[in-house]
Amino acid sequence: MKLPVPVLADGKVFTDVKIGEASAGTLASARREADAGAEYSALLEWCVGVAREISGDGDTVTDPQEIKRLIKFMPFESVYAVACYGMAETKGDDSIPGEYQCPKCGRIVRLEKSNVDGEEIDDTDHLRTLKYGICSNPESGISLSLSRPIEIPRKDTGEIIETIESIVMDWPTLGQCIRAHQKNPDNESAMMFAVYADAIRLVNGKKIDSSWRASFGDLAFSRMMVRDQAALVASMKKYSIQSKVSRACMKCKTRWDAEVDLRGFFSSGLTGD
Ligand SMILES: [Zn+2]
Repeated sequence: MKLPVPVLADGKVFTDVKIGEASAGTLASARREADAGAEYSALLEWCVGVAREISGDGDTVTDPQEIKRLIKFMPFESVYAVACYGMAETKGDDSIPGEYQCPKCGRIVRLEKSNVDGEEIDDTDHLRTLKYGICSNPESGISLSLSRPIEIPRKDTGEIIETIESIVMDWPTLGQCIRAHQKNPDNESAMMFAVYADAIRLVNGKKIDSSWRASFGDLAFSRMMVRDQAALVASMKKYSIQSKVSRACMKCKTRWDAEVDLRGFFSSGLTGD
């Protein structure tokens, strides 16, 4: 199958990834990285194994080494989509079982495949029925207007030296995640701040350089309001698998939106659970 995925590399825009099933060798190398705690390198190994070709701009790449290089330029959320679709191809099954707790009465809604009187009942979600957002213009990046400006004080005097009102970022890539994870292996929030900092392009409409990024980048994201960070994460997820689904509680009739456990879908495929 082909999935529309934006990749900006070498001044070109690649737009599609052809995805097939993984070999035993791919599964083994992704599992090895995952067991070593290198979640992002595991995703890389897996995606290289399931991506048959990456195409766009009149160019089609099929060489695995080149595919590996391009996947590092892929937006992180898109990598996750490729990984999940590759898992569905590999398993020959795109069903996503899960347990969801009713926010009102606490009852657990369990979605699974079951067998009732010899008849198979499938209550699970299916990857192919989840909506998928296509990014038609990846060059424009992510624009964020902050609900409250981020103020950055001088370390010694506390004087405010930067007031950030808006940010434009490139799409954080898998390569940036791998590098940031190597630097912050045991601290997921520090890792994400480093990834975001690496991706900042404009601050208050002005281009920033690497010394700005190094001095203020991580700090800016750690001082950002939770509401603004949530908006940033939502923008990043907009062009990938839409994992929010509507759930209903049979007991109290409450309906709510819940997140489908794609992470579980991918990792259970790696471990064979
Ligand atoms: Zn309920």
